[in-house]
Amino acid sequence: MKPIDSLDKCTTCTTCVAYCPVTRATRAFRGPKLTGPASERFRLLDEMTPGPNGEIEALDYCSNCKNCDIACPSGVKISTLNMMARGDWCREHKPPFRDWVLSHGTRFGALARLFPAALVRLGMTNPLTRWLLDRFGVSAKAPLPVYASKSFRQLFAKHMSGKTPGAKKVVFFPGCYIEDYDPQTGMDLVVLLERAGYEVIVPQTGCCGVPLIANGFMDEAAEAARVNSAELVRLSSPDVPILTLCPSCGLMLGQEYGEFFPDVDDVHTLSPRLEDACEFLIGLVERGELDISSLRPDRERLIYHAPCHLRAQGIGKPGLELLRMLGTHVEDAQAGCCGISGSYGFKKEKYDVATTVGKELFQTVKKSGATCCVSECGTCRLQISHHTGVPTMHPVSRLRQMLN
Ligand code: SF4
Ligand code: SF4
Repeated sequence: MKPIDSLDKCTTCTTCVAYCPVTRATRAFRGPKLTGPASERFRLLDEMTPGPNGEIEALDYCSNCKNCDIACPSGVKISTLNMMARGDWCREHKPPFRDWVLSHGTRFGALARLFPAALVRLGMTNPLTRWLLDRFGVSAKAPLPVYASKSFRQLFAKHMSGKTPGAKKVVFFPGCYIEDYDPQTGMDLVVLLERAGYEVIVPQTGCCGVPLIANGFMDEAAEAARVNSAELVRLSSPDVPILTLCPSCGLMLGQEYGEFFPDVDDVHTLSPRLEDACEFLIGLVERGELDISSLRPDRERLIYHAPCHLRAQGIGKPGLELLRMLGTHVEDAQAGCCGISGSYGFKKEKYDVATTVGKELFQTVKKSGATCCVSECGTCRLQISHHTGVPTMHPVSRLRQMLN
């Protein structure tokens, strides 16, 4: 069903309002019912007030966290309608340059890697840079990720040099976070898959497009969907699945490409071939394909945070399930959204909103006494560490540690 066709299913029950974390955190946002289906009717008639303090200002506060979609009993695609409306607005009105920079982080990764890692870290974290960024609209307090000295693809190419192709194959879509900021988590997955006898194929793909959509660059996101889906369909098959480590990439490739860009043929082939990496590893352990005989018991106390974009996929919590099936003591935080929503919480005017949204989760993590918080989403991990001081890790990296 096209997102626009879900509009008339709204029964105005207001369930989405009760579940929207941003509505609870700020009065600047009018809430999902008003900015979503209610406003869409006026947008269709071309009767919305653009601003100041009109439609676009209210719409801009939607973080695309998807909690409204998860809660809506009628299946209205509220956040998708919001993002499409924002995309339409931004076609006519250029978004701020700050939003362009935040949604095109991959463009700067190659440049950053020309310099020594310590210099990049210093350049990105020193007080003068942060002060300048703050003037530019990126909060001086925000937990910005730092570019890794080697990209995932660089580490992977070195790792694969001289290796012979394996009999069983999987495609791994790293996405921009693993590629530029957290390549080690990607390599942890590669090592586990190879241990189970798989050859890992890394496609020539870019960012999935979630940051582009969230910042209003809908046409660029459509191009990303076209290029990424063509390459992924070419390399995968019903027997060669596509794995993702980042829940936002999984949601985008498997669900949102079809909603936003139904005219791109290849996007409809992706969904049945996609699998969350933790889900895939659970299958490997259950079938005895992944040898866990050398597993060291994890005696630490862990807490798990389920990212909103994982919950929106309706596939349960495979990261939590994987760690529990290996005997790990891990508590499920069940404390809602962390607030960061990709680059949303980096923005100066949204930092406090994101902090308020994540408050319950931060308190839960701190109170738990856990020594590590596991979660699949890279920016959730940044936000949790920033507000709690508790170290964070992807469940796949935890498993690799247990097998070392
Ligand atoms: S939860 Fe769904 S049906 Fe209820 S008001 Fe929100 S969009 Fe409408
Ligand atoms: S996507 Fe999140 S912030 Fe936006 S309306 Fe839905 S629940 Fe609220």
